[in-house]
Amino acid sequence: MEAKELKQLATGRWESIASRLAPSLLEAIKRLPHHVPCPVHGGVDGFRLFKDFDDTGGGVCNTCGIKHDGYSLIMWANGWGFKETHDAIHEMLVGGGQNYSLPSVAPQPVVKKKEVDVEAIRDSLNHVWRDSITLSSPEARPARQYFANRGIPQVDYRKLDSKMIRFVPFLEYYEEGKLLGKYPAIVTMVCDSNGRPSTVHRTYITPDGTKAPVESPKKMMRHCAADLYGAIRIAVQGRSRVLAVTEGIETALAVMSAFNVPVWAAGNAHLLENFVPPKGVDIVIYADKDLPSQQHPEGHGQSAARALLKRLWQEGIKASIKIPDNEIPQGAKSVDWLDAISGAKHAPFKKAAIK
Ligand SMILES: [Zn+2]
Repeated sequence: MEAKELKQLATGRWESIASRLAPSLLEAIKRLPHHVPCPVHGGVDGFRLFKDFDDTGGGVCNTCGIKHDGYSLIMWANGWGFKETHDAIHEMLVGGGQNYSLPSVAPQPVVKKKEVDVEAIRDSLNHVWRDSITLSSPEARPARQYFANRGIPQVDYRKLDSKMIRFVPFLEYYEEGKLLGKYPAIVTMVCDSNGRPSTVHRTYITPDGTKAPVESPKKMMRHCAADLYGAIRIAVQGRSRVLAVTEGIETALAVMSAFNVPVWAAGNAHLLENFVPPKGVDIVIYADKDLPSQQHPEGHGQSAARALLKRLWQEGIKASIKIPDNEIPQGAKSVDWLDAISGAKHAPFKKAAIK
């Protein structure tokens, strides 16, 4: 049976299909249409299924992107190919028999709701960006204080791209559509794999430069890009032959200050693994060191970095990985280069260093 026919047959049945074939979607199905952690990249609440999920099978992760229908959703959630997905849905709805004929009652045409409102997304992105100012302006003091509080050694604001990292004095904080308050926020532009600015990442803070007292102080905005694999390009690349990449923005700033190299932040481990660098640069991956988990026996940060390294080498790009030497502290899940760099600042000098 053709995919087109099978899709028609699946209309109005995606809840049961996805429940059976992709158990990682069960939480989202149970909480539909509310936000839940992404079944692929994790996080706090970046993923939800469409309101008309049972009809379309679609869903959206603010980080991984939009899956318009049940096929692309299950392929993505399970890491399956098209044929594997098609066969599994076929098996479930039709069975293995080749002589099966379509039910005589044609499926009812479905009126699709407009789930992804491109205009609304663009408006909200513009709204945030329009109110933003440069990090070096006097009113952006909370951002500079925040970086200092995080232990990032002296940020050189001339080396940052003021079109990519900015500050909003009062930014609305929403949770599940409810406005919970306004906070200062550091905002950064996230690019797609073609280098096009595609959405905005927000770090909500307080006027004193600490993390805002909210459930998710770091949030990606909605977007309609095909991917977000072009990184948060906070550093001016200039003529540097070497470009470093990290997961987080604060780690990127710390690596920039400590090693005097332009650094971009991928955003998280999933985006780092899929990072698409610009042409003509050598890449140094400053990886996070994460505890092993069932899903990532090597640690998520380490395996994402290794997967990126392998792909870059295959494409003939010079690349290397640097992992912090530090042990992961008791009770912590990971250690990153910000920890390594800010910790090193307070470490006692080795004897050899003092003459
Ligand atoms: Zn995701």
